Amino acid sequence: MPLEADSFLDDESIGESCAIFGTFAPEFDVARMAFFALFSMQHRGQESSGIAVANPEWIVSHTGMGLVSHVFNEHMLRMLKGVAAIGHNRYSTTGISRIENAQPVVFDQIPGKHLALAHNGNLVNAQMLYNDLVGSGAKLSATTDSVVMAHMLQEAYSEMPIEDAILEVFPQFKGAYSAVILTNNELIAVRDPMGFRPLCLGRRGENYCVASESSAFPLLGADFVREVEPGEVIIIDKRGIRISRLPDRPDPHHCMFEYFYFSRPDSQLSGKLLYKIRIRMGRELSTEAPVPADWVIGVPDSGTPAAIGYSDASGIKFAEGFVKNRYVGRTFIEPLQVFRDLGVRIKLNPLTEVLEGKRVVLVDDSIVRGSTMKKIVRLMREVGGVTEVHVRLSSSAIRYPCYYGVDFGTRGELIAAHRTEAEICDYIGADSLHYLSIDGMVRATGIEKEKFCLACFNSEYPLKFPHQMSIHMLDESPKYALEGESNGFQSDRPTGLTD
Ligand code: SF4
Repeated sequence: MPLEADSFLDDESIGESCAIFGTFAPEFDVARMAFFALFSMQHRGQESSGIAVANPEWIVSHTGMGLVSHVFNEHMLRMLKGVAAIGHNRYSTTGISRIENAQPVVFDQIPGKHLALAHNGNLVNAQMLYNDLVGSGAKLSATTDSVVMAHMLQEAYSEMPIEDAILEVFPQFKGAYSAVILTNNELIAVRDPMGFRPLCLGRRGENYCVASESSAFPLLGADFVREVEPGEVIIIDKRGIRISRLPDRPDPHHCMFEYFYFSRPDSQLSGKLLYKIRIRMGRELSTEAPVPADWVIGVPDSGTPAAIGYSDASGIKFAEGFVKNRYVGRTFIEPLQVFRDLGVRIKLNPLTEVLEGKRVVLVDDSIVRGSTMKKIVRLMREVGGVTEVHVRLSSSAIRYPCYYGVDFGTRGELIAAHRTEAEICDYIGADSLHYLSIDGMVRATGIEKEKFCLACFNSEYPLKFPHQMSIHMLDESPKYALEGESNGFQSDRPTGLTD
């Protein structure tokens, strides 16, 4: 049965920039450690990858477009010798993926004061900082907030020790960031004062490492020590580890998306294993929206733990309803029309023998635009042969854009911003639909509600941002290069916020 041709250009995958890693480990092959850490965090960014290594004389780096395993080979890793390393996987949106924007960013003009930086998140005042830099005559090599950060840090570092430079410059950065910085002699990890993006500290013997997710550590033979605290600055060198703090002490606001979607289920956040939290989200979902059915099916892979939780709580058996092709990525699909025409079928094949004639609860983590879920529901009916599809989402409805580094487009693209639950159900062709409530989502984490950023669900933005703010503006805006011109961004953020 032919399905409608669709395009992976409307793939609803939610992007976040990015994965970071750092280690100071003179006893080990630091580039190889970075490679394996980035490999284990490939899910956080697949557009480009890079590693920089340091020793007292130089910092060298290699970056490339594509997956970690494509960017690095044995020869390359052997060339990257040093006592410390940082690494980065980048996610970027379609059309703005450029090698110049790959990280780490390296500044190596000043002897003995070389610097490399990699960053995950989004500065809400990047445009203003960029304009100030350009206005003072700076020539920047790329259009990312990471380059702005590295440039400002380099200027300060040229006049003072790195620790002082960080404490002087980082308070000027407003927004979400977890950053790793490499000098000729130190590795530094910094997490923004609100702790939007995750950052974890690990240890292998006497050597320390930091990574966006704790799940990066086992592959390195490292133990998870703890999360880097919001506002914390960790300096690691041959003398060991020192802790410093940024002066701002706002209440933490961790990104809820990490809990139900971004981070791997075997990662820990706030001392809790995400797999267990996702199971509990499924249980909450079952309590909020029970429905008679024959099977509970998860959309692989991110919907699976919540589907297991729904099954546990409801007593309806869990089954695998799809086989997923895990080797399909955007970089593979987009250039080839023959693959694009196959649409969602190239990723998911329904198990007709399991589904045929059954009433199914279909659990996924979220819906952004609704187009992918519509195709999945249709696939289940037309190929799988199900008689009923009841869609259950383990997150609340996404109604507002994110300005802190998560890319799911503008408000106009979010289906829940403009349609009721009944209208969305009708659009995707399901028999029923339910989003987990915000309270249910928070309850499943076991963490106080006040500790989360929930802005994309309830519009309560914990950090103010400029009116013209766009998560894409650094790449899309000619203003970023040509001061004084409009960036053309039509803000669709909710009213009531001021700069
Ligand atoms: S707005 Fe949403 S996606 Fe962005 S940081 Fe807050 S919870 Fe995360």
